Amino acid sequence: MTKENNIELEDYLNSWLDQMMEVYGGILKEWEEFDIVKPVPGAHVEFNCNNCGKCCEFVNHWVWVYPSDMVKWLQNLNSEKIIPLLLGTLFPVQDYDDVIGYGLPSQKAIYEKFNQFIKLHKKSKHKQIVLKSILKKIAQINSTFNKNSDYCIFYNANSDQHCLIYDFRPIQCQVFPLDYPQFTSIEIPENLKNKYGTFKDDNEDLPVCPKETYTNGDPLKGIMVSEDERDLVAMEKANYLTSYVTKDWQDTDISEILIEIFSKEILKLVEEKNVRKP
Ligand code: SF4
Ligand code: SF4
Repeated sequence: MTKENNIELEDYLNSWLDQMMEVYGGILKEWEEFDIVKPVPGAHVEFNCNNCGKCCEFVNHWVWVYPSDMVKWLQNLNSEKIIPLLLGTLFPVQDYDDVIGYGLPSQKAIYEKFNQFIKLHKKSKHKQIVLKSILKKIAQINSTFNKNSDYCIFYNANSDQHCLIYDFRPIQCQVFPLDYPQFTSIEIPENLKNKYGTFKDDNEDLPVCPKETYTNGDPLKGIMVSEDERDLVAMEKANYLTSYVTKDWQDTDISEILIEIFSKEILKLVEEKNVRKP
């Protein structure tokens, strides 16, 4: 890869991020102005996260990684050496509404995908080294990594917080389970219905949190949602609308671009003997 190619790829990624962040900023402003995300009226059930880690298990779901999460990680490239790994592990994913975006995979999924990538790029020694290095590094920083596990690649059963990227975890992890419609509702004003009428928030499934975490009764009755938490949910919902991969980008697998751009950093990271955990 020449320096020129690298610059071209970086420009490509930056222009995608710029485009997405512009859309995100506009949506967030409008959602704040019209107070679109609200706590469910009468929500009062107390909730104590018991750190069980069920929300980090991706049997039927994954964690969306939004452009704003990527920007947060990119801004920390210099201070946190783990960030290139994060960026190298994003996968294109598709939800039940056919939204195509990017997500953090399970340990099993990354193992399978990278092995497919390795086979696909069998002629490129450089790519083989980078891909194998990412897998090796993840297994090194996550001592409980298991190629058959449905847990998120950054879930470590033995660490105190369980999440190895806790301070940098995606916004979807930060708001769980408050973004469920049982706890926060979406009310689109008439004048914006044309614009956001297609926004669906009708997932009636309860979050996977165990019953014991709802200390005062039935989770269907709601949960205490503070102003701050409500703002976080609004951000998460606005982010969701920027997770769509627009037509121009549908033939592009950003995970490959990210791996390419950060391959040098990833290799440097692998060579370092003492890697600081995030
Ligand atoms: S990033 Fe962290 S909090 Fe989010 S699913 Fe993975 S391990 Fe869990
Ligand atoms: S599933 Fe619920 S209770 Fe368990 S760690 Fe996640 S948020 Fe906490």
